[in-house]
Amino acid sequence: MNGPSHAVFSREEFDRRRKRVKDLQARDGRVLATASVVLGVALLFAIDWAEPRMQRTPLLLLAAGSFLAYLAIFGVWLLRMRIRLRDARLVCPHCGIELDAPAEQFADAEGTCDSCGERVIE
Ligand SMILES: [Zn+2]
Repeated sequence: MNGPSHAVFSREEFDRRRKRVKDLQARDGRVLATASVVLGVALLFAIDWAEPRMQRTPLLLLAAGSFLAYLAIFGVWLLRMRIRLRDARLVCPHCGIELDAPAEQFADAEGTCDSCGERVIE
């Protein structure tokens, strides 16, 4: 895998990165929940409005098209969210493994990587 690319974290840096990942996850979760509900309801209203005014085939095409657009928007958005998180995540400077929730707590308590045992925090 990728070799050591970062220096050992200072305590401040570790806490800062940790908080940033948490903030990103919390914010993205809120935005995603809100946007999916708002867009979903808007789509239902749009179809409800269009139904008595349009013929069946164009209506179905419109509904299918809107749904695909809805999926595409969320697909792109989720991808962006994953990239942002990947850039922000904590990685062991020695073995390059991602310090996800349990490993991060271990590193926080012990100051070392739970995978390779090397020091992660100064
Ligand atoms: Zn490691």
